[in-house]
Amino acid sequence: METAGELAPSARILLGPGPSNVHPRVLKTLSTPLVGHLDPEFLRVMEETKALLRFVFQTKNALTLPISGTGSAGMEACLVNLIEPGDEVIVGVNGVFGTRMVDIVERCGAKAITMEVPWGNVFTPNHLQDALNSCHRPKLVALVHAETSTGAWQPLEEIAPLVHQAGALFVVDAVTSLGGCPLQIDAWGIDACYSGTQKCLSCPPGLAPVTFNQAALDVIHERKTKVQSWYLDLTMIEKYWGEERVYHHTAPVSMNYALREALRLIQEEGLEARFRRHQRNHMALAAGLNALGLPLAAQEGHRLWMLNSVTIPPGIDDAAARRQLLENYNIEIGAGLGPLRGKIWRIGLMGESSTRSNVLLALSALEEILQKQGYRVTPGAGVGAAQAVYAAA
Ligand SMILES: *Cc1c(COP(=O)(O)O)cnc(C)c1O
Repeated sequence: METAGELAPSARILLGPGPSNVHPRVLKTLSTPLVGHLDPEFLRVMEETKALLRFVFQTKNALTLPISGTGSAGMEACLVNLIEPGDEVIVGVNGVFGTRMVDIVERCGAKAITMEVPWGNVFTPNHLQDALNSCHRPKLVALVHAETSTGAWQPLEEIAPLVHQAGALFVVDAVTSLGGCPLQIDAWGIDACYSGTQKCLSCPPGLAPVTFNQAALDVIHERKTKVQSWYLDLTMIEKYWGEERVYHHTAPVSMNYALREALRLIQEEGLEARFRRHQRNHMALAAGLNALGLPLAAQEGHRLWMLNSVTIPPGIDDAAARRQLLENYNIEIGAGLGPLRGKIWRIGLMGESSTRSNVLLALSALEEILQKQGYRVTPGAGVGAAQAVYAAA
């Protein structure tokens, strides 16, 4: 085999469902020297990262740390630690990630009770009440806050009291929402929550921040059976990330540097300012897409700021359009997943990718590409509508 050349990845504009663009300061930390994972300097990195995670999660939970693995490892960590064989578990399924949770719940030997609404819609307290009435004693209720496969934004505050009245734990997937829209672990009564680094935290993929409150910890400590996953067993991981520093696995040192730096950037920007930025860019993009005749697909009033799913107009070649965006503009957007494949595009405005210039570029690029495929639009309509939103803000 010929010697492979040095990598020279293109500087893509990442407007898909993740990863999002990464700040140069985060990239720089990835090329700083390694220290050992039990080096006092790395222990300080661990402590600082836990404190910064408590800030973004808005929690005082002691057990708040990044699992070594991507967002799905966070999902699996929450479920395998809290669930034992025979448990009843209610899962909201309105997209790909609810489906994934059901798969894990069943692999735990638990009984999954699914609540379903059409993809793109969200669950109301009534949906949950019906599900609670249909089971005996649910161990937990799991919902996806930001369904990245559809763009739907699930309200959580009104759901939590019902979950607790039923004596269950409330588990939330915040992989896409954390750092992009309000999420209050303590104030909203969320017992366990997981996220990922490559969405609104704008860090490369590779770590999964999780947080567990005392009620969730009690459930873990009172288990009758061993956690079925050795790698994700929190009773061991909490000792590695806690005072004892008992070796469990080798934390990915460089990824933890990167996460710490990405979280520092969030702290510098401020959560409120960051959320307002995501909201403003979403509103501008939505106005522009609407002016191009591309309506947003998720349920009205429940559309995410960081993930915009748009209906592909009839007659447009999905794959060709996305390829042209990538080749001519360096822009990545996401395709539809599962039943939505070929029906929607997913335009992400996550973390560092959520900027005014990206919104305007995406709208003009889409206009040109759609016109090439014979789709009629008023020239400049999308950009004009977006500019009007920025001017009014
Ligand atoms: C991306 C995502 C996941 C999975 O994360 P990976 O990093 O791809 O493993 C889970 N849930 C939601 C809502 C996501 O957007």
